[in-house]
Amino acid sequence: MTPAFDELKNTIKSLPGFGYRSAERLALHLILEKPEKAESLVQLISKAVGTIKSCITCHNLSEEEECSICKDPSRNQSLLCVVERVSDLISIERSGSYRGLYHVLGGKLSPLQGVHPDSLNFSTLENRLKGNNIQEIILALSNDIEGEATCHYIQDNFLQQHPARLSRIAFGLPSGGGIHIADAQTLQSAINGRQGF
Ligand SMILES: [Zn+2]
Repeated sequence: MTPAFDELKNTIKSLPGFGYRSAERLALHLILEKPEKAESLVQLISKAVGTIKSCITCHNLSEEEECSICKDPSRNQSLLCVVERVSDLISIERSGSYRGLYHVLGGKLSPLQGVHPDSLNFSTLENRLKGNNIQEIILALSNDIEGEATCHYIQDNFLQQHPARLSRIAFGLPSGGGIHIADAQTLQSAINGRQGF
């Protein structure tokens, strides 16, 4: 095609969820069929990148210092659900099965891939446990070796000083599957059926 088209297509292909064909289809759609949509997409991406940041408390998306969940007094302030990524938080929120607070770690421990405790949001987690009245920590992490290691790290490092109850969501998910791909009903039963760690 043209160098500019190839560059656009390859950039789309490098994004999560896009393969060669879907990237080509989107590039063609934006350029040939909906150029006005391409313009508005450029503006929306630019606005989002400029205004959305990480909540200083829980690391959710926010346009202010603290996100709408952290600032919502109607949420159960004694429950803290620990997730790997914002996409997991969004899935749990969408399921409508949880009304407590969250903490987004930013990933899971994986020494082989260079993800050590320093790379994750553990220091803000510790501050929250010190400062607040968290009575139960619900671990909603992946059902794989790294998720398991992250759960143990939290249990070993934070639960001695802060006697909160630790539970883990009951997995009806395939091994290695992430929270963000689970449907609402699966997540609801996983949270309701959480078990002590
Ligand atoms: Zn927050």
